[in-house]
Amino acid sequence: MFKKILIANRGEIACRVIKTARKMGIETVAVYSDADRDAVHVKMADEAVHIGPAPAAQSYLVIDNILDAIEATRAQAVHPGYGFLSENPRFAAALAERGVAFIGPPVGAIEAMGDKITSKKLAEEAGVSIVPGHMGLIEDDDEAVKIAEQIGYPVMIKASAGGGGKGMRIAWDETEVREGFVSSKNEAASSFGDDRIFIEKFIDKPRHIEIQVLGDTHGNCIHLGERECSIQRRNQKVIEEAPSPFLDAKTRKAMGAEAVQLAKAVDYCSAGTVEFIVDADKNFYFLEMNTRLQVEHPVTELITGIDLVEQMIRVAAGEKLDLTQADIKANGWAIESRLYAEDPYRNFLPSIGRLSRYRPPREGESEDGTIVRNDTGVAEGGEISMFYDPMIAKLCTWGPDRDIAIAAMEVALDAFEIEGIGHNIPFLSAVMAHERFRAGDISTGFIAEEYADGFAGVTLAEDERDQIAACAAVLHTIGELRATRISGTIANHKRRVGRNWDVLVDGEAVPLKLKPRNEGAKVKLGREGSQRKLDIRTDWRPGQSLARLFVGDTERLLKVKSTTSGFRIAYRGAHMDVRVYTPRQAELARLMPHKPPPDTSKTLLCPMPGLVVSIAVEEGQRVEQGQALATIEAMKMENILRAEKKAVVSKINVAAGDSLAVDEVMMEFE
Ligand code: ADP
Ligand code: ADP
Ligand code: MG
Repeated sequence: MFKKILIANRGEIACRVIKTARKMGIETVAVYSDADRDAVHVKMADEAVHIGPAPAAQSYLVIDNILDAIEATRAQAVHPGYGFLSENPRFAAALAERGVAFIGPPVGAIEAMGDKITSKKLAEEAGVSIVPGHMGLIEDDDEAVKIAEQIGYPVMIKASAGGGGKGMRIAWDETEVREGFVSSKNEAASSFGDDRIFIEKFIDKPRHIEIQVLGDTHGNCIHLGERECSIQRRNQKVIEEAPSPFLDAKTRKAMGAEAVQLAKAVDYCSAGTVEFIVDADKNFYFLEMNTRLQVEHPVTELITGIDLVEQMIRVAAGEKLDLTQADIKANGWAIESRLYAEDPYRNFLPSIGRLSRYRPPREGESEDGTIVRNDTGVAEGGEISMFYDPMIAKLCTWGPDRDIAIAAMEVALDAFEIEGIGHNIPFLSAVMAHERFRAGDISTGFIAEEYADGFAGVTLAEDERDQIAACAAVLHTIGELRATRISGTIANHKRRVGRNWDVLVDGEAVPLKLKPRNEGAKVKLGREGSQRKLDIRTDWRPGQSLARLFVGDTERLLKVKSTTSGFRIAYRGAHMDVRVYTPRQAELARLMPHKPPPDTSKTLLCPMPGLVVSIAVEEGQRVEQGQALATIEAMKMENILRAEKKAVVSKINVAAGDSLAVDEVMMEFE
């Protein structure tokens, strides 16, 4: 076995690999850029080597710099993680030349699968069903239109070198093909340095289901079942689970067999993933093979009990797999939520900055038998920078069945505190509570269909909202009681804490009567006559940002922030302004004038920090609803900003090449 390995990556995946290496008694070497000097993976590793400036193209992607780090530390093997150099055959070859083991598949397999067009052809030869389409390159938009018409709409325009959902566009008609061809090509060129484009049929109501394979260098290859990754936005996975709620045993077996067949056809070893798109009739089509560890591998680990990184390391060291297909048993259900630094209220656009608070839930098994696992590479005070992937953490839960795993995820998300940057926790909570998700009735169009007008937060059901109001009154009373106790001033001595409250939850009044008792209160909700009684217990103390309350037997975790007359409360995807008023204060509050929100309908604000790629209109021009106004590039994605309604452009404040901050006024309308 290796004595020392180097991890050619950063963030959560570098930390993840270090954990297993440590468990196996292997020393670890981290590499880092200027931006990652204080990163968690650097502190976790036994040694760390600086490899260049912040941009990945000058550090994590520079093969020579990694080779120097290997030489300096005498590491015997390299784990590439995912992204960066993980699927770069030149990197794997350079290591082989120096007698350093690559903890991944052979160069030939990476090359064969690295290109979407080549891999489709290979898959077809290996007897794997592929998405119908045109398996050649497309030169220009005229040709794209011709081919799209032959295939039949809708079609998927794709970059052959694509990955991470980039360089991909759906097109429903000729205009969209022309537009999509250009933006896919540009995105592919800037993300992959390779602008080759092809077109395939867009599979209707598709579900993304993939098979984890594992092979060794002795000719053994097995699969570890499937993961369903249909909850996606912009063709990028957000929530994954294992097993899939859609597959039956027969389809699972057939997909597993085809995946292994394909892996064997390219002499695959190590861990890899064969991705399929599955239609409503359970027909499945090969999408691509990822010749590396997959982001969502933890859900497979949670239901199989197999440490995939350990298997990869053993295979790279030449060991034989000590698992056979018959040893693979799925136990229970696991879900992964990707916590992204992005603004769910603004079309999931990236949000960067410093994590002023980062408190993940406790990991491990709880009393009820559920498990929480959180893979992360950040710490409180750390920064989510514009240079790398905006993923903050991968939060996973395991339960004996799907419902229990979902319930555990809801609680874990409630307990997860992140402040300082925009993040998608409210959105993840909303999906967990969504009926269609709970029923397993999902497709890759789920987010676009269910949140067609964007995500506007969650509105709690009345009963739940009332309970939150009661909880807020309890917390408020705890604060008031403490204030009377600690202060020695006469004024405060005389102050008494009332029993009657008018709680306003986002302006909706919930009157209640509260009787404090040790560690909580008895609450009567509603007006005289139609009252409901609640028994609330909590050990919360003023100043704590996470309040754990029991309403009867139901545990509720509220994120709370004090305001002048109450709290800001976040719970299950809802963000509420809760005011706890005495009846007198409530009366006065009703007389206060309301400030209307500023009118932003006459401006186009930059929705994220980014670079202006192009401006599609001119001053004085009349635009229709949905018409493209400008293209912004952020985090290597091109985003087209469109007119929300019919208007006339009166002023354009920015030009191509400008770097913009969020909310900068780009255009004004008459
Ligand atoms: P998975 O299928 O494992 O979820 P993705 O395709 O979403 O993987 O990509 C995994 C990670 O690797 C993402 O962080 C993505 O940004 C990055 N990535 C994928 N392909 C590339 C590539 N060709 N170049 C750079 N980064 C990539
Ligand atoms: P990447 O390398 O970026 O991961 P994939 O080819 O794996 O690219 O596609 C990513 C996602 O895009 C899929 O999970 C699926 O949601 C969607 N997708 C890709 N191709 C098709 C298709 N032909 N029909 C429907 N959806 C597709
Ligand atoms: Mg993919």
